[in-house]
Amino acid sequence: MKTSKLSLLICIYSFSILCGQTSIDEFLNLSKQLVRRSLEDRKGYYWLKELCEIGPRLVASSNSYNAIEWARKKMIESGFDSVWLQPVRVPVWIRGDREECQIIKSKEYSGKKLNITALGGSIGTGDNGVSGRVVVVHDFMELYTKRDKVKGNFVFFNRSLDFGEVETFSAYGKAVDQRIYGAIEAAKYGAVGVIVRSITTKHDNTPHTGILRYNDSIPRIPAVVIGNLDADFLVNAIKVEPNLELYIKLSCKSLDDTISYNVIGEIRGCELPNEVVLVGGHIDSWDKGCGAHDNGTGVIHSMEALDLIKRLNFNPKRTIRCVLFMGEEFNSIGGIEYNNYAQSTEQIHIAAIESDRGGFTPRGFSVEADSNIILDLQKFLPYLSLAKIDWIRKGGSGADISRLKNVKAKIGFVPDNQRYMDVHHSDNDIFEEVHPRELQLGSAAIAILALLISQFGL
Ligand SMILES: [Zn+2]
Repeated sequence: MKTSKLSLLICIYSFSILCGQTSIDEFLNLSKQLVRRSLEDRKGYYWLKELCEIGPRLVASSNSYNAIEWARKKMIESGFDSVWLQPVRVPVWIRGDREECQIIKSKEYSGKKLNITALGGSIGTGDNGVSGRVVVVHDFMELYTKRDKVKGNFVFFNRSLDFGEVETFSAYGKAVDQRIYGAIEAAKYGAVGVIVRSITTKHDNTPHTGILRYNDSIPRIPAVVIGNLDADFLVNAIKVEPNLELYIKLSCKSLDDTISYNVIGEIRGCELPNEVVLVGGHIDSWDKGCGAHDNGTGVIHSMEALDLIKRLNFNPKRTIRCVLFMGEEFNSIGGIEYNNYAQSTEQIHIAAIESDRGGFTPRGFSVEADSNIILDLQKFLPYLSLAKIDWIRKGGSGADISRLKNVKAKIGFVPDNQRYMDVHHSDNDIFEEVHPRELQLGSAAIAILALLISQFGL
């Protein structure tokens, strides 16, 4: 027992004094230590609790500024070599307090309230609200066939995600067009508003919000999402009484743009400081739950990867930089702004790793890169498997880092995805939904990958 502790101490000591000399064999030991310390200390999990206690982090909300300051202070306390804020111009959208939806002009159902919430960026309804009949459609194709019935009424996009798909992100991707573009498509035919069935894998009544788009040449109409149980109720009610009407009142609105910040901190490379390995995730969230899995866990993974390296007193060869992007939920504006900065410096970003798929058990890394680089990364699997990473393959990386140009590898962290859409963008996305061991394995996996790239390059 004593001997192994002593050899461990020697090992850690040797990591701390060497710069860029660690052999790939020594790396196995270091990786084991990263995993053990992450699971044992649970520092990221306690950080996540603090972050969640601030509350949800809607862009430009006071919580979002508190979260920026919280992250900046933590990075300084962790002993990062540099910590700074990068200004980002952001839109300001506020939900307001009134979100009402009820059935009217119905024998059976008048007065029945339905659980809705406005989509991000939606206009409000004005003080009088809006009302109309409801045209139920499956998709844009069916909307087109029913276009003559739409004028003066609501369009209800009633398509859930495909429960038969194994990959929940793919199922989400195929259902989300109605949420993003539904208001544009319905307004083309004179709709007064849009209702979208909540896109989730859970069968509950919690509405899941998200961004919508408007088109400047088409009138803007209010858009809401409705909980699944009430969506079922509404579909059945309309079958019984096709002429029933809905009344919706929203007080959301957009204000002038303002300034927010990306939070950036780094451990400077001891041998090649101008070569950067970026680790990041967005710090903003929707104003639902506390944005625990989306994307509190990505914030923690990114910060803790660097903190773990500091905890083991390791000096990376290349710079490892943590970037917490502001405004991913509003079209990745922080990612775009960071890329502007990256293009203007002398530094070379050799790789970027993003965590924005929740804090569940690690599975793999999905990489945008040439095949020879992916083959090189696959050689790291024996180390990454210590943190439950099974695969590295070609695929999409992440919304924020996909904006980066001139990077050899853009890498998305992929945890298990079966429960992510249960909580995504909704009041279900709370701290209690995150498991400490699953979260901590993610921090360790990202720390190991960042260090491997920092030591051995690509
Ligand atoms: Zn996200």
